[in-house]
Amino acid sequence: MTQGERAVRLLLIGPPGSGKGTQGKRVAQRYGVEHIAAGDLLRLEVETESGIGRRAAASMQRGELVPDALVYELVMPRVLAAGKANGYVLDGFPRSVGQAEEGRAIFEDNDVAVRLAVLLDAIPDDLLPRLLERAQSEGRFDDTPEVIRARLDVFKEEVEPLLAFYRERGLLVTVDASGSPDDVWAQLQAVVEST
Ligand code: ADP
Repeated sequence: MTQGERAVRLLLIGPPGSGKGTQGKRVAQRYGVEHIAAGDLLRLEVETESGIGRRAAASMQRGELVPDALVYELVMPRVLAAGKANGYVLDGFPRSVGQAEEGRAIFEDNDVAVRLAVLLDAIPDDLLPRLLERAQSEGRFDDTPEVIRARLDVFKEEVEPLLAFYRERGLLVTVDASGSPDDVWAQLQAVVEST
């Protein structure tokens, strides 16, 4: 039932296109923890036209953050369950200081606090060509050029205070995300295994 001293409870922070999804999946597979990707969970709700999906759709279509209450409803129970099992890798949540504070309160109360926050460091505007290319192949409904630009802008607005939140608590590590997925993965594994 308990996760032990060394359970992986990791948060990935990074601009759209920095590889959070790819690296999150690798972490999950390698360390046997759950990959909890807020954007994937939200898109599924939108696609299945659930109550949460209907309330989240408009913000997502504009590339803006969806209201916190919807994200909490979707993500919090999963984080608590995964934390009580083997651990988790969070991808895209918390995404603002408000969410980080709410998360901290609830996770600490349940003994499943984030142990490590990793910034996948890349220059947001450099990622635009990669994102536009991916948009053609993957067909995400929030991957039009205009929405991608909005998502990059939201990231730039939210990221500094979010990083400060984790830095102040001694939990933040930066990984250079400008290289290949294998290169980023090598750095990420080294970070996870040294903490
Ligand atoms: P990316 O990081 O490439 O922008 P995500 O799949 O992580 O993509 O997120 C897609 C969209 O889902 C965001 O633009 C936002 O509308 C919504 N979203 C994801 N995570 C959150 C969150 N923690 N809080 C609010 N909205 C979120």
